[in-house]
Amino acid sequence: MASRGTFSLKRDIVAVCRRLYDRGLIAGPDGNVSVRVAPDRVLVTPAGLSKVDVQVEDLVELSLDGRHVRGDRRASSEILMHLRIYQRRPDVQAVVHAHPPTATGFSVAGESLAACVLPEVIGQMGSVPLLPYATPGTSELADSFDPFVEHHDAFLLANHGATTIGPTLTIAHQRMESLEHSARILLTARLLGNVNTLTPAQVETLIAARQRATPGTLSRMSRSVRA
Ligand SMILES: [Zn+2]
Repeated sequence: MASRGTFSLKRDIVAVCRRLYDRGLIAGPDGNVSVRVAPDRVLVTPAGLSKVDVQVEDLVELSLDGRHVRGDRRASSEILMHLRIYQRRPDVQAVVHAHPPTATGFSVAGESLAACVLPEVIGQMGSVPLLPYATPGTSELADSFDPFVEHHDAFLLANHGATTIGPTLTIAHQRMESLEHSARILLTARLLGNVNTLTPAQVETLIAARQRATPGTLSRMSRSVRA
């Protein structure tokens, strides 16, 4: 990611904003997207604008401690959440925050997406914890990540939305799409009246397969799924 030009990364952010909007994962000015452009610098979407209208020149560059570096607009109101994640997870290169309707419905119902139901979800992001409610845009919301951020790559925020992170923007965005997709599947199974979860042995097999594919993610993933 560091080898890519900043302009290219800006275009990638704009493209992800469009895709989040087109897929109905955000509405109005909801949601925010950021990318780490240097070890201590991030690019983030601006406050107030609908993501469908965000242009490359609207993006804001900040230092990891929150100082404005470049850009004419004000950074997203959720910037504290983004910065906390980058501070705690040096491996993370991108953060996507959205309000996917079905996954957020689970958060309103007080449920996590921790059930081991779908192999692809376990392989992509492990279990998805439910973080306690905190007022959007506050340092309390950033604080709510502290107990979870080391061990998970996707988070439900109670009565609010979801956040996904990753080693690239593509992966963080795919995790958001998959999170909503899996929530819809789980809701459908509930409506049909039965949810068959995977057995511990089946989950272990998935973890072992993931370990062979991407060794670096194993310890975090196995902790998150087995937790
Ligand atoms: Zn939000």
